[in-house]
Amino acid sequence: MKITDVRTRPLKLPYKNPLKTAANYFDVATGVLVEIATDEGTRGYGYADVFPRAGETIATAQALIHEVIAPGVIGKSPMEAQLIVEWMEKNLLGNFRAKAAVEMGIQDLRGKATGLPLYELLGGAVRKSVLVMPMIGLQSPERMAEEAETLVDQGIKALKLKIGTGLKEDVQRVQRVRQRVGKEIFIKVDANQAYTVPEALRVARHLEEFEVESFEQPVAAHDWEGMVHLNQNSPIPIEADQTVRTVNDALRAIRLGAAQIITTSPQKAGGILQAKRVADLCQVAGIQCIVSNVAGSLINDAAAIHLIAASVSTTLPCEVGQFERVSGDPARGLIVQDGEIHVPSGPGLGIEVQFPVQS
Ligand SMILES: [Mg+2]
Repeated sequence: MKITDVRTRPLKLPYKNPLKTAANYFDVATGVLVEIATDEGTRGYGYADVFPRAGETIATAQALIHEVIAPGVIGKSPMEAQLIVEWMEKNLLGNFRAKAAVEMGIQDLRGKATGLPLYELLGGAVRKSVLVMPMIGLQSPERMAEEAETLVDQGIKALKLKIGTGLKEDVQRVQRVRQRVGKEIFIKVDANQAYTVPEALRVARHLEEFEVESFEQPVAAHDWEGMVHLNQNSPIPIEADQTVRTVNDALRAIRLGAAQIITTSPQKAGGILQAKRVADLCQVAGIQCIVSNVAGSLINDAAAIHLIAASVSTTLPCEVGQFERVSGDPARGLIVQDGEIHVPSGPGLGIEVQFPVQS
Protein backbone atom coordinates (compact mmCIF):
# COMPACT_ATOMS: atom_id res chain seq x y z
CA MET A 1 0.00 0.00 0.00
CA LYS A 2 1.38 3.39 -1.04
CA ILE A 3 0.29 6.94 -0.32
CA THR A 4 -0.76 8.55 -3.62
CA ASP A 5 -2.18 11.94 -2.63
CA VAL A 6 -2.35 14.45 0.22
CA ARG A 7 -5.22 16.91 0.05
CA THR A 8 -6.17 19.78 2.36
CA ARG A 9 -9.22 21.94 3.01
CA PRO A 10 -9.49 25.00 5.27
CA LEU A 11 -12.00 24.58 8.04
CA LYS A 12 -13.59 27.42 10.02
CA LEU A 13 -16.02 26.20 12.66
CA PRO A 14 -17.95 28.93 14.52
CA TYR A 15 -18.24 28.69 18.31
CA LYS A 16 -21.80 28.44 19.57
CA ASN A 17 -20.66 30.68 22.46
CA PRO A 18 -17.31 32.56 22.40
CA LEU A 19 -14.62 31.50 24.91
CA LYS A 20 -12.30 33.86 26.80
CA THR A 21 -9.06 32.90 28.60
CA ALA A 22 -6.25 34.97 30.17
CA ALA A 23 -4.42 34.81 26.81
CA ASN A 24 -7.03 34.26 24.09
CA TYR A 25 -10.50 35.00 22.80
CA PHE A 26 -12.06 32.29 20.60
CA ASP A 27 -15.18 32.72 18.47
CA VAL A 28 -14.20 30.57 15.51
CA ALA A 29 -12.08 27.41 15.47
CA THR A 30 -9.67 27.61 12.53
CA GLY A 31 -8.14 24.47 11.16
CA VAL A 32 -6.99 22.47 8.20
CA LEU A 33 -8.59 19.18 7.26
CA VAL A 34 -6.21 16.69 5.66
CA GLU A 35 -7.13 13.70 3.51
CA ILE A 36 -4.47 11.13 2.61
CA ALA A 37 -5.29 8.71 -0.19
CA THR A 38 -3.64 5.38 -1.04
CA ASP A 39 -3.37 3.26 -4.18
CA GLU A 40 -5.82 0.83 -2.58
CA GLY A 41 -8.54 3.46 -2.45
CA THR A 42 -8.46 3.94 1.34
CA ARG A 43 -8.51 7.40 2.87
CA GLY A 44 -7.12 8.62 6.18
CA TYR A 45 -8.07 11.87 7.90
CA GLY A 46 -6.25 14.37 10.04
CA TYR A 47 -6.82 17.85 11.39
CA ALA A 48 -4.50 20.75 12.23
CA ASP A 49 -5.89 23.12 14.85
CA VAL A 50 -4.14 26.37 13.88
CA PHE A 51 -3.98 29.86 15.34
CA PRO A 52 -1.26 32.55 15.24
CA ARG A 53 -0.36 32.23 18.94
CA ALA A 54 0.67 28.65 18.17
CA GLY A 55 2.72 29.98 15.25
CA GLU A 56 0.56 28.48 12.51
CA THR A 57 -2.33 29.61 10.32
CA ILE A 58 -4.49 27.91 7.70
CA ALA A 59 -2.27 29.36 4.95
CA THR A 60 1.05 28.29 6.53
CA ALA A 61 -0.19 24.79 7.32
CA GLN A 62 -1.59 24.26 3.81
CA ALA A 63 1.54 25.63 2.13
CA LEU A 64 3.91 23.47 4.18
CA ILE A 65 1.82 20.34 3.81
CA HIS A 66 1.73 20.71 0.01
CA GLU A 67 5.24 22.10 -0.63
CA VAL A 68 7.31 20.26 1.97
CA ILE A 69 5.50 17.33 3.57
CA ALA A 70 3.49 15.79 0.71
CA PRO A 71 6.51 15.26 -1.62
CA GLY A 72 8.26 13.35 1.19
CA VAL A 73 5.23 11.24 2.06
CA ILE A 74 3.78 10.32 -1.34
CA GLY A 75 5.06 6.91 -2.44
CA LYS A 76 5.66 5.72 1.14
CA SER A 77 3.55 3.13 2.95
CA PRO A 78 1.37 4.34 5.85
CA MET A 79 2.78 1.37 7.78
CA GLU A 80 6.08 3.32 7.93
CA ALA A 81 4.47 5.92 10.22
CA GLN A 82 7.44 6.14 12.58
CA LEU A 83 9.92 6.63 9.74
CA ILE A 84 7.68 9.33 8.25
CA VAL A 85 7.51 11.12 11.61
CA GLU A 86 11.32 11.04 11.87
CA TRP A 87 11.57 12.36 8.32
CA MET A 88 9.18 15.25 9.11
CA GLU A 89 11.12 16.12 12.28
CA LYS A 90 14.38 16.31 10.32
CA ASN A 91 13.02 18.19 7.33
CA LEU A 92 10.59 20.71 8.81
CA LEU A 93 11.37 22.76 11.90
CA GLY A 94 8.43 23.58 14.20
CA ASN A 95 4.98 23.63 12.57
CA PHE A 96 3.82 20.93 14.96
CA ARG A 97 0.18 21.17 13.94
CA ALA A 98 0.73 20.72 10.22
CA LYS A 99 2.89 17.68 10.98
CA ALA A 100 0.33 16.34 13.46
CA ALA A 101 -2.47 16.53 10.88
CA VAL A 102 -0.50 14.50 8.34
CA GLU A 103 0.56 11.92 10.92
CA MET A 104 -3.05 11.58 12.12
CA GLY A 105 -4.12 10.75 8.57
CA ILE A 106 -1.33 8.18 8.29
CA GLN A 107 -2.28 6.58 11.63
CA ASP A 108 -5.91 6.45 10.48
CA LEU A 109 -4.72 4.60 7.36
CA ARG A 110 -2.63 2.13 9.40
CA GLY A 111 -5.75 1.25 11.34
CA LYS A 112 -7.86 0.92 8.21
CA ALA A 113 -5.19 -1.25 6.55
CA THR A 114 -5.09 -3.66 9.50
CA GLY A 115 -8.77 -3.41 10.45
CA LEU A 116 -7.75 -2.37 13.98
CA PRO A 117 -8.66 0.68 16.07
CA LEU A 118 -5.65 2.96 16.52
CA TYR A 119 -5.30 2.22 20.26
CA GLU A 120 -4.49 -1.41 19.39
CA LEU A 121 -1.58 -0.20 17.27
CA LEU A 122 -0.36 2.02 20.14
CA GLY A 123 0.01 -0.89 22.53
CA GLY A 124 -3.59 -1.75 23.40
CA ALA A 125 -6.20 -0.03 25.54
CA VAL A 126 -5.76 0.41 29.29
CA ARG A 127 -9.19 2.10 29.46
CA LYS A 128 -12.32 2.01 27.33
CA SER A 129 -13.74 5.44 28.13
CA VAL A 130 -12.38 8.89 28.91
CA LEU A 131 -13.74 11.30 31.49
CA VAL A 132 -14.12 14.66 29.77
CA MET A 133 -13.23 17.98 31.40
CA PRO A 134 -14.94 20.96 29.74
CA MET A 135 -13.32 24.35 30.06
CA ILE A 136 -15.17 27.31 31.56
CA GLY A 137 -13.81 30.59 30.17
CA LEU A 138 -13.01 33.73 32.14
CA GLN A 139 -16.21 35.40 33.30
CA SER A 140 -17.62 36.77 36.53
CA PRO A 141 -17.57 34.27 39.43
CA GLU A 142 -21.36 34.04 39.36
CA ARG A 143 -21.52 33.42 35.61
CA MET A 144 -18.85 30.70 35.87
CA ALA A 145 -20.76 29.04 38.72
CA GLU A 146 -23.93 29.05 36.60
CA GLU A 147 -22.10 27.48 33.66
CA ALA A 148 -20.56 24.88 35.98
CA GLU A 149 -23.97 23.95 37.33
CA THR A 150 -25.42 23.56 33.83
CA LEU A 151 -22.53 21.25 32.84
CA VAL A 152 -22.84 19.15 36.00
CA ASP A 153 -26.60 18.83 35.37
CA GLN A 154 -25.67 17.38 31.95
CA GLY A 155 -23.57 14.68 33.64
CA ILE A 156 -20.14 16.33 33.56
CA LYS A 157 -17.87 15.15 36.41
CA ALA A 158 -14.75 17.30 35.87
CA LEU A 159 -14.29 21.01 35.18
CA LYS A 160 -11.39 23.21 34.15
CA LEU A 161 -11.76 26.83 35.22
CA LYS A 162 -9.85 29.60 33.50
CA ILE A 163 -8.41 32.09 36.00
CA GLY A 164 -5.67 34.71 35.94
CA THR A 165 -7.18 38.16 36.60
CA GLY A 166 -6.11 38.58 40.23
CA LEU A 167 -6.18 36.79 43.57
CA LYS A 168 -9.52 38.10 44.85
CA GLU A 169 -11.55 37.43 41.73
CA ASP A 170 -9.89 34.06 41.05
CA VAL A 171 -10.56 32.82 44.58
CA GLN A 172 -14.19 33.93 44.26
CA ARG A 173 -14.48 32.05 40.98
CA VAL A 174 -13.30 28.78 42.46
CA GLN A 175 -15.23 29.27 45.71
CA ARG A 176 -18.54 29.92 43.90
CA VAL A 177 -18.07 27.01 41.53
CA ARG A 178 -17.14 24.60 44.36
CA GLN A 179 -20.16 25.73 46.41
CA ARG A 180 -22.45 25.24 43.41
CA VAL A 181 -21.26 21.83 42.19
CA GLY A 182 -20.39 20.12 45.50
CA LYS A 183 -17.44 18.04 46.67
CA GLU A 184 -17.58 15.19 44.16
CA ILE A 185 -16.69 17.18 41.04
CA PHE A 186 -13.03 17.26 39.91
CA ILE A 187 -11.91 20.90 39.59
CA LYS A 188 -8.67 22.24 38.12
CA VAL A 189 -7.62 25.79 37.25
CA ASP A 190 -5.57 27.24 34.38
CA ALA A 191 -3.96 30.69 34.67
CA ASN A 192 -2.42 30.65 31.15
CA GLN A 193 0.89 32.21 32.36
CA ALA A 194 -0.85 35.21 33.98
CA TYR A 195 1.00 35.27 37.32
CA THR A 196 4.41 35.94 38.81
CA VAL A 197 5.80 33.25 41.12
CA PRO A 198 4.88 35.01 44.42
CA GLU A 199 1.38 35.80 43.09
CA ALA A 200 0.87 32.21 41.97
CA LEU A 201 1.95 30.89 45.35
CA ARG A 202 -0.58 33.13 47.12
CA VAL A 203 -3.34 32.03 44.72
CA ALA A 204 -2.42 28.35 45.26
CA ARG A 205 -2.52 28.74 49.06
CA HIS A 206 -5.97 30.34 48.88
CA LEU A 207 -7.29 27.69 46.50
CA GLU A 208 -6.18 24.72 48.60
CA GLU A 209 -9.32 24.70 50.77
CA PHE A 210 -11.52 24.29 47.68
CA GLU A 211 -9.82 21.02 46.74
CA VAL A 212 -8.36 22.13 43.44
CA GLU A 213 -6.67 19.12 41.83
CA SER A 214 -4.24 20.99 39.58
CA PHE A 215 -2.89 24.50 38.93
CA GLU A 216 -2.03 24.68 35.25
CA GLN A 217 0.67 26.98 33.90
CA PRO A 218 0.59 29.66 36.63
CA VAL A 219 3.67 31.50 35.27
CA ALA A 220 5.36 32.29 31.95
CA ALA A 221 6.20 29.33 29.72
CA HIS A 222 9.94 30.08 29.75
CA ASP A 223 10.15 30.50 33.55
CA TRP A 224 11.57 27.06 34.33
CA GLU A 225 13.01 28.18 37.68
CA GLY A 226 9.61 29.61 38.63
CA MET A 227 7.87 26.35 37.74
CA VAL A 228 10.40 24.38 39.83
CA HIS A 229 9.95 26.73 42.79
CA LEU A 230 6.16 26.48 42.56
CA ASN A 231 6.27 22.72 42.19
CA GLN A 232 8.29 22.50 45.41
CA ASN A 233 6.14 24.92 47.38
CA SER A 234 2.57 24.92 46.07
CA PRO A 235 -0.01 23.10 48.21
CA ILE A 236 -1.82 22.05 45.00
CA PRO A 237 -0.16 20.12 42.15
CA ILE A 238 1.52 22.21 39.47
CA GLU A 239 0.79 21.35 35.84
CA ALA A 240 2.96 22.37 32.90
CA ASP A 241 1.20 23.29 29.65
CA GLN A 242 3.00 25.97 27.60
CA THR A 243 6.30 25.15 29.36
CA VAL A 244 6.22 21.67 27.80
CA ARG A 245 5.73 21.49 24.06
CA THR A 246 8.11 18.81 22.82
CA VAL A 247 9.27 15.45 24.14
CA ASN A 248 12.55 17.13 25.10
CA ASP A 249 10.66 19.77 27.10
CA ALA A 250 8.88 16.96 28.95
CA LEU A 251 12.19 15.28 29.72
CA ARG A 252 13.60 18.57 31.02
CA ALA A 253 10.51 19.22 33.18
CA ILE A 254 10.84 15.77 34.71
CA ARG A 255 14.58 16.12 35.34
CA LEU A 256 14.18 19.56 36.96
CA GLY A 257 11.02 18.67 38.88
CA ALA A 258 9.05 21.48 37.23
CA ALA A 259 5.60 19.85 37.43
CA GLN A 260 3.60 16.97 38.85
CA ILE A 261 1.34 16.89 35.83
CA ILE A 262 2.26 17.49 32.17
CA THR A 263 -0.23 18.49 29.49
CA THR A 264 0.30 17.20 26.00
CA SER A 265 -1.69 16.70 22.81
CA PRO A 266 -1.02 15.51 19.28
CA GLN A 267 -1.37 19.14 18.11
CA LYS A 268 1.10 20.55 20.61
CA ALA A 269 3.70 17.79 20.44
CA GLY A 270 3.64 17.37 16.65
CA GLY A 271 1.63 14.17 16.30
CA ILE A 272 0.21 11.15 18.07
CA LEU A 273 3.55 9.32 18.36
CA GLN A 274 5.30 12.35 19.85
CA ALA A 275 2.48 12.93 22.35
CA LYS A 276 2.60 9.21 23.24
CA ARG A 277 6.30 9.62 24.04
CA VAL A 278 5.44 12.47 26.42
CA ALA A 279 2.74 10.34 28.09
CA ASP A 280 5.13 7.38 28.39
CA LEU A 281 7.89 9.57 29.87
CA CYS A 282 5.36 10.71 32.49
CA GLN A 283 4.57 7.07 33.28
CA VAL A 284 8.25 6.23 33.73
CA ALA A 285 8.78 9.30 35.92
CA GLY A 286 5.74 8.51 38.06
CA ILE A 287 3.87 11.72 37.25
CA GLN A 288 0.55 12.23 35.51
CA CYS A 289 -0.28 13.31 31.99
CA ILE A 290 -3.37 15.18 30.80
CA VAL A 291 -4.24 15.24 27.11
CA SER A 292 -5.79 18.54 26.08
CA ASN A 293 -7.61 19.85 23.06
CA VAL A 294 -9.34 23.09 22.32
CA ALA A 295 -12.54 23.09 20.30
CA GLY A 296 -12.29 22.12 16.65
CA SER A 297 -13.07 19.12 14.48
CA LEU A 298 -13.63 15.92 16.45
CA ILE A 299 -10.96 14.27 14.27
CA ASN A 300 -8.59 15.83 16.76
CA ASP A 301 -10.51 14.46 19.74
CA ALA A 302 -10.50 10.99 18.18
CA ALA A 303 -6.70 11.10 17.89
CA ALA A 304 -6.46 12.27 21.51
CA ILE A 305 -8.83 9.57 22.74
CA HIS A 306 -6.87 6.71 21.16
CA LEU A 307 -3.71 8.17 22.74
CA ILE A 308 -5.40 8.41 26.17
CA ALA A 309 -6.83 4.88 25.82
CA ALA A 310 -3.35 3.46 25.18
CA SER A 311 -1.42 5.46 27.82
CA VAL A 312 -1.01 4.40 31.45
CA SER A 313 -0.22 7.91 32.75
CA THR A 314 -3.47 9.54 31.56
CA THR A 315 -5.64 8.61 34.53
CA LEU A 316 -6.99 12.11 35.21
CA PRO A 317 -9.94 13.61 33.30
CA CYS A 318 -8.81 14.96 29.93
CA GLU A 319 -9.71 18.00 27.87
CA VAL A 320 -11.57 16.29 25.08
CA GLY A 321 -15.13 16.70 23.90
CA GLN A 322 -14.86 20.42 23.17
CA PHE A 323 -16.04 19.71 19.60
CA GLU A 324 -19.49 20.20 21.11
CA ARG A 325 -18.72 23.93 21.34
CA VAL A 326 -18.55 24.43 17.56
CA SER A 327 -20.89 23.82 14.63
CA GLY A 328 -20.30 22.60 11.07
CA ASP A 329 -17.84 19.76 11.82
CA PRO A 330 -17.52 17.49 8.75
CA ALA A 331 -16.56 14.58 11.06
CA ARG A 332 -18.80 12.43 13.21
CA GLY A 333 -18.51 9.37 15.40
CA LEU A 334 -17.88 10.59 18.96
CA ILE A 335 -20.42 11.56 21.57
CA VAL A 336 -20.15 12.85 25.11
CA GLN A 337 -22.50 10.84 27.32
CA ASP A 338 -22.73 11.14 31.12
CA GLY A 339 -19.51 13.14 31.08
CA GLU A 340 -17.54 10.47 29.21
CA ILE A 341 -16.53 9.55 25.68
CA HIS A 342 -16.31 5.86 24.82
CA VAL A 343 -13.19 4.96 22.87
CA PRO A 344 -14.28 4.24 19.27
CA SER A 345 -13.70 0.63 18.21
CA GLY A 346 -13.81 1.01 14.41
CA PRO A 347 -10.62 0.77 12.30
CA GLY A 348 -8.12 3.64 12.57
CA LEU A 349 -9.52 6.73 14.27
CA GLY A 350 -12.93 5.08 14.16
CA ILE A 351 -14.79 8.12 12.84
CA GLU A 352 -16.40 9.23 9.57
CA VAL A 353 -15.36 12.33 7.67
CA GLN A 354 -17.03 14.13 4.79
CA PHE A 355 -14.39 15.39 2.37
CA PRO A 356 -14.68 17.65 0.47
CA VAL A 357 -16.60 19.57 3.07
CA GLN A 358 -20.12 20.39 1.92
CA SER A 359 -21.55 23.60 3.32
MG1 LIG B 1 -3.60 25.52 29.22
